[in-house]
Amino acid sequence: MNYRTNPKNGDQLSMLGFGCMRFSDSLAGSFGIGGFDKQKAEDLIKAAIEKGVNYFDTAYVYGASEEVLGNTLSKYGVREKVYIATKLPLLMCRSKSDLDKYFNRQLERLQTDYIDYYLFHMLSDMAEWDKLCGWDVKTWIEEKKATGKIKEIGFSFHGSQGEFLSLLDAYDWDFVQIQYNYSDENFQAGVTGLKKAASKGMPVIIMEPLLGGKLANSLPKSAVECFHQSNPNITPVAWALQWLWNQPEVTVVLSGMNQMSQLDENLQTAETSEPGMLSQGELEVYREVKNIFSASNKIPCTGCHYCTPCPYGVDIPSCFTAYNTYCSISKNQGFLQYAMGTLLSSTPGYAGLCKKCGKCEKHCPQHIEIRNALSEVAREMEKTVFKISSFGMKAYNRLKSKK
Ligand code: SF4
Ligand code: SF4
Repeated sequence: MNYRTNPKNGDQLSMLGFGCMRFSDSLAGSFGIGGFDKQKAEDLIKAAIEKGVNYFDTAYVYGASEEVLGNTLSKYGVREKVYIATKLPLLMCRSKSDLDKYFNRQLERLQTDYIDYYLFHMLSDMAEWDKLCGWDVKTWIEEKKATGKIKEIGFSFHGSQGEFLSLLDAYDWDFVQIQYNYSDENFQAGVTGLKKAASKGMPVIIMEPLLGGKLANSLPKSAVECFHQSNPNITPVAWALQWLWNQPEVTVVLSGMNQMSQLDENLQTAETSEPGMLSQGELEVYREVKNIFSASNKIPCTGCHYCTPCPYGVDIPSCFTAYNTYCSISKNQGFLQYAMGTLLSSTPGYAGLCKKCGKCEKHCPQHIEIRNALSEVAREMEKTVFKISSFGMKAYNRLKSKK
C-alpha cells in the first residue's frame, strides 16, 4: 500500500480509503429495503486492514454501516490501527443539542471514545455554516478537540465551487472531502477547489471516484474501447483511480468496495500509482472518454439513495438508472430494466407516481431537478405497454395480498 502524508498533522493515510456507504446498501438499508450482508462487509474490512488500508469513511445516515465498522474493529482489536472518518447528519439537526445527540450516538455505534476525522455531512453553502455558527458550533468543535473526542474536523461538500471557496476561508478546517473524478473535473468543488484546499495545507479526501459506479459499469462501449486501445491491460476502474492519484493534491481516494475482487484490483492500482505518472497522450484519452460518457449520462444520478424514501413510493434511482440505459445503451434493455425495477416489487415505484411534493430534491447531492426529470422519464417510459403491465401487476398484487 502507498501512503500519503496529511500535511497538517503528519498522519500517514492509505491512498486507498474504504468507503463504507455502498456495502451497507446505503440509506436503503436503514429503511429495511434491500440486502445487507454484514458478514461479507466484516470480511472486507478485515482484509482491507490486513492489506494496509487505514482510512475508513462512514456516516450516521449510512444504515448500519457505523455499527458494522465499530463491531469489526472491536472484534479484531484493531481500532488503533485505523483512522475512522464519520459525519454529523446536518440535515437531521434541528437545534444545537442535536450536535451532541448524534455525536454521542456515533461514538456508541462505532464503539470508540474518539473520531479521528469528523465531518459535517453535506455542508454545502455559507447559509448552512452561518446557521451552525448561530449554534456556537466553533465552541462545540473546540471543546470536542480539547477533550480529544475529535482529532480532525472537516466537511463533505456537494455545492457550487463559489460556496466551496467561501467555506474554505470561513474556518480553519483540518481537511475536506469532495466529489471528484475525471468526469467531474469542473463540477462542484472541482479542480479549482482541490488546488485551493491543498494550497491551504489541507488533506483532500475524494469521494465518488467512480461516480457511483457509473465510470465502471455504465460507460458506453466506445468509451471502453478508447481506454482499451490506449492500454488493454487495465480496467476502466483502474483508469479512473489513476487519474486521481496522478494528482499530488489528492490525499485519499474513497472506494465503496463490496467484493473482494474489487478490493484486490484497487489495491493493485494503488500500489502502482504515483503523482505525475500519466502522459499527455493518456490525459487526452480521458478527455475523449469524458466526452462520450457525458453525452450518454442523461440524468447524472449516482444511485446514492439520499433522496429516498419517497412518501409516494417512487423508486427514484431505479427510474433514472433505467432511463439512462434507455437513452444511451439500448431502448429495449432500458425499458425492460424500467419495468423490472419499478413494477416487480410489492409496491410499484414508477415515475408517474410522483406527486411533485419536492421533498426529495433538497437531499440530492447532484442537485438534480428530480420532479422535472421524473416527468421526462414518465413521458418517455410509461407508454401503452407499460400501462398495461402496470395494471396487470396491480391486479396480481391485489390477488396475492388477499391469499
Ligand atoms: S417530488 Fe415526487 S419523487 Fe420526490 S418525494 Fe415528492 S412525490 Fe416523491
Ligand atoms: S436522484 Fe440524487 S439523491 Fe437520488 S439517488 Fe440520484 S443522485 Fe442520489
